Amino acid sequence: MRKNIVAGNWKMNTDLADTQELIGGLKSIAKTSDAEIIIAPPFTNLYSAFEALKGAGIEVAAQNMHQSTSGAFTGEISASMLKGVGVKTVILGHSERRAYFEEKEDLLAEKVNTALENDMKVIYCFGEELKDRNFSEHFEVVNKQISQALFHLDADAWKHIILAYEPVWAIGTGETASPDQAQEMHAFIRKTIADEYSQEVADSVTVLYGGSVKPANAKEIFSKPDVDGGLIGGASLKAEDFMAIVNAF
Ligand code: PGA
Repeated sequence: MRKNIVAGNWKMNTDLADTQELIGGLKSIAKTSDAEIIIAPPFTNLYSAFEALKGAGIEVAAQNMHQSTSGAFTGEISASMLKGVGVKTVILGHSERRAYFEEKEDLLAEKVNTALENDMKVIYCFGEELKDRNFSEHFEVVNKQISQALFHLDADAWKHIILAYEPVWAIGTGETASPDQAQEMHAFIRKTIADEYSQEVADSVTVLYGGSVKPANAKEIFSKPDVDGGLIGGASLKAEDFMAIVNAF
């Protein structure tokens, strides 16, 4: 069946020295759960993270990627560059990329295609804003974010897709969706995929929850049947907190 995953999104935090220290901390704490671990440091530290994690059972992911394979795109990073430094997974569509860099579903669909063509896995993020929830439009918004970026894929491609539901109002705010709110949305996401593809595809895709997950609330959130792990921001920057979340399964 589907995998449990806990992924750490370090965002624009950690220099080279911090990266090594944080990885040292992660390696020193025993993993007692079956969850797979992924960390996503900034681009500049991906290679050193990959080298430091060899044999540690922790995978390294990028936080973003350009949709083109190469060329005159000053300041951008391609899939093959990432693969060259050991990265096999990329986070796409994070709400901060959507909000500050205006990434929308059509662009994200292109990025997803490029990642899959390069044999990479995608952690595809989406989630409603508070106003959407207040207007009871959160299911509609999430449906659009998933369908417009991913429903052009064939069923087989879904083996390489991990979903991360991150309600924008819960990211970095200290406010978490309640375990029941998370479960309700995760079940909706799975039904949306089952309706478009099949129950088999829906049951096999890992759906992470993200938004103020911390050691104190991880266990209850992860206990919900359709929540298969978390995408962790702030709490992934402290080794003890992050490993406590990993071990909450
Ligand atoms: P947070 O961030 O855990 O700090 O709320 C989650 C994310 O943005 O992925």
